Amino acid sequence: MKQLEIVIQNPTGLHARPAKIFVNLAKQYQSDIRVFHGEKKANAKSLISMLTLGVQSGSGIRIEVEGEDEDAAIVAIEEAIAGGLGEEELIEQVATETETAQGEEKPIKGKQAQNESDAPLPENMIQGIAGAPGIAIGPIYHLKRTEIKVEETFESESEEKNQLQEAIEKAKGQVMRLHAQMLAQNASSEAAIFDVHLELLDDVELLDAVLEKINQKQSAAFAWQTTIDARAEMVAGLDDPLLAARAADLHDVGYRVLRILVGVDGPAIRFPDHPVIVVADDLSPSDTVSLDRDKVLGFCTASGGPTAHTAIIARALSLPAIVSAGERILTLGDGPTVILNGDTGLLTLDPTEDEIAQAKSLQQAGQKLRHEAQQKATDPAVTVDGHRVEIVANIGGVAGAQDAMKSGAEGVGLLRTEFLFLERISPPTEEEQFAVYRDIAKTMQGLPIIVRTLDVGGDKPLPYIKMPEEANPFLGVRGIRLCMARPEILREQIRAVLRATKYGKLRIMFPMVSDLSEWHEARALVEEVRAELGTDPVEMGIMIEVPSAAVMADVFAEHVDFFSVGTNDLTQYTLAMDRMHPQLAGKSDGLHPAVLRLINTTVQAAHKAGKWVGVCGELGADPEAVPILVGLGVDELSVTVPAIPTVKAQVRVLKYEEAQILAKKALSCGTASEVRELV
Ligand code: PEP
Ligand code: MG
Repeated sequence: MKQLEIVIQNPTGLHARPAKIFVNLAKQYQSDIRVFHGEKKANAKSLISMLTLGVQSGSGIRIEVEGEDEDAAIVAIEEAIAGGLGEEELIEQVATETETAQGEEKPIKGKQAQNESDAPLPENMIQGIAGAPGIAIGPIYHLKRTEIKVEETFESESEEKNQLQEAIEKAKGQVMRLHAQMLAQNASSEAAIFDVHLELLDDVELLDAVLEKINQKQSAAFAWQTTIDARAEMVAGLDDPLLAARAADLHDVGYRVLRILVGVDGPAIRFPDHPVIVVADDLSPSDTVSLDRDKVLGFCTASGGPTAHTAIIARALSLPAIVSAGERILTLGDGPTVILNGDTGLLTLDPTEDEIAQAKSLQQAGQKLRHEAQQKATDPAVTVDGHRVEIVANIGGVAGAQDAMKSGAEGVGLLRTEFLFLERISPPTEEEQFAVYRDIAKTMQGLPIIVRTLDVGGDKPLPYIKMPEEANPFLGVRGIRLCMARPEILREQIRAVLRATKYGKLRIMFPMVSDLSEWHEARALVEEVRAELGTDPVEMGIMIEVPSAAVMADVFAEHVDFFSVGTNDLTQYTLAMDRMHPQLAGKSDGLHPAVLRLINTTVQAAHKAGKWVGVCGELGADPEAVPILVGLGVDELSVTVPAIPTVKAQVRVLKYEEAQILAKKALSCGTASEVRELV
C-alpha cells in the first residue's frame, strides 16, 4: 500500500470541478484509492463521496492507494494535486492577491452594472441586472416542482435493478442532450454543469448504496430517492457554501432519474393556469430549458449573472429576464403584480396604475418595433444612405437552418459543427455528417452557408479524443490545433462538406487560426480531399479570434477568401479575460477599443485585398455595437436567429456616414464604457 499526505491549495477546496478531475484520474487506476480527511473517509472514485469530505482550502488530506498499479497511481495523484487539479492559475492568483492584499475589495463595474447613479431607489423597486431584454407585467409565481409519489412496492431484485439501470441510462441521454443544447446556446460553463451531472449518474458509491437497498427489498424508486436525499443532506450540511451548493445538483439529477422510475412524463415544474413572472433563487439548467413558454412572461432570479445560463437561454427564447436581484425577491409572496424590465434590470413591486400604463406603452412600443422588424425580416438591411450589410445566422444544425429561413437570414455565417460531435461516444461518420450538411444546404435554398470545421478541445473535450488534461484549456490544443493533431477527423469532415456542396453554397472556415502555417496546412488538406473527390473549388476563410491573426490580417488577406471575426474569443484573448469568468463578465466587453482596433485592422486589410469580413461573435447582435461594427465597414453580421429581424431593423435606421464617424470616435476611446457612452 502507498500513502500520501498532502495539502489542498485550491482556493475553494475540493469543490465540484477539481473533485471531478481527481475522481476521473482515480478511475484510470485499478487500485483501491481512499481519501481521509479528519474523521471522514471517501472512495476516490466517487464524486459524491469526495464532495462529502468537505475539504476546504489549506486542509490536509491523506490518500491510501492499494493495488497492482499503486506506484503509478500515487505519483499521478500527487502530481495532479500539486498541479492544482485544473486550477493552477487560480491558486497562483489567490496566492499573489494574499501577498499583496490591500485589505479593500474593489467591486467590478462593467457593462451590465446597473443603478450607477447614487440616487436611492424607491421602496417599491428592486434593482437587479438586465438578463434578457423586454418588459413583462404579471403576477409573481415562485418556482414549484411537480411532486412525485414514490410507491414502495417491490417486484423482484432483478426487476428493480433493471428498472434502475434503464432509468439511469435514460437520464444520461437526457443530460447529454441538455449538455449539447447548452453548447448550442454558447453556454459552455452551463454545459460543464451537465458534465458534473453525468459524473453523478456514474457514481459507483451512489449506485452501490442503492443496489444494497434493493437487495434489502426496497423498490428502485424508493431506494434511489432515500439514497439521493441522504447524500444531498450530507453535502448540504457541509460548512463550505460552494460545496454545499452541489446538493442542488444531486437533487436535480436525482429528481430526473426518479421521474423516469415512477413514469412521470409531465413537466418537471408546476405552473398555474395563467401566465406568470417566475421568481426563484436561481434556475437550474434543467429548469431553464423546461420553462413553459405559454405560462412564463419573464423571470427574475435572486442570484446568477448576465452571462449565467438563465440569462443566455432567456435571450435565446426572447424571454424578458432580470438576474441577481437579491434575496428580497424571495420574500415576496405568490400573486402580487410586478413590472419586470429586462432592459434596465428594474423590478417594480405593487406598481401604480400610472406605472403599469407607462410599462404597457413601453412594452407595446417594443412589441411594435419587433413586429415591424419581423414583418420586414426578409427585406435586406440597407442603411438610409444605401449601404448594405448582410445579416446571416449562427446555427448548430438543421432545425436552426429552418428557423433561420423563417427569420429572414440571408445565409448562415456560422455553422457550429461541433454539435454533431458532442453528444456521443464516437465521432459521427462521414455519411452522418454528409446527411446533415446536405439537409442544411437544401434548407437554405442556395443561400451561402459557412461551415466552421470542428472547434473543440480544451474546454470542450470529446470522450473519444483522448487529450491530456491542460492547465490552460483556452490556450491549449483546441480548434484547428486539435484538428491538425488528429487530421483523420478533419479529413472525414471535409469529405462530408465537399460532397454536400452539390446541394448548396457551402464555404469552409477554420477556427482558432493563429499562424499562417495552420492556414496553409488546412487549405492543403481541403485541396487534397477535393482532388480525390473531384468536386468544384470551394471558398475558404478563417475566423479572426486570436489577436495574432488580426494583427497579421494583411498577410492572411492575400490567401483567404474571407474573414469572420469571433468576438467572443477575440475579446477573451485580447483582454486576457476568461469568457466564462463570472467576476469578469462586466469587464469582458467586445466594445473595448482594443478589440475594435483589431476589428478595424482586419476590415482595412481585407478590403485592401478585395476580401470581405463578417462578425459572428455575440457582439454582432449587441444593439450598442451594431452601429460601430457597420461604421467600421464590417460587411456581414452573423447573429443568433431571434436577433435577425431586429438587427436588420437597426441597420435600416442608420446612416452609414454617421456610423463611420461614430466608429472612428470609438477607436480613440480609452475604455469600453466610453465607447458605450458614445452610442
Ligand atoms: C467566437 O469566438 O466569437 C465564436 C463565434 O466562436 P465560439 O463562440 O463558438 O467560440
Ligand atoms: Mg470562438
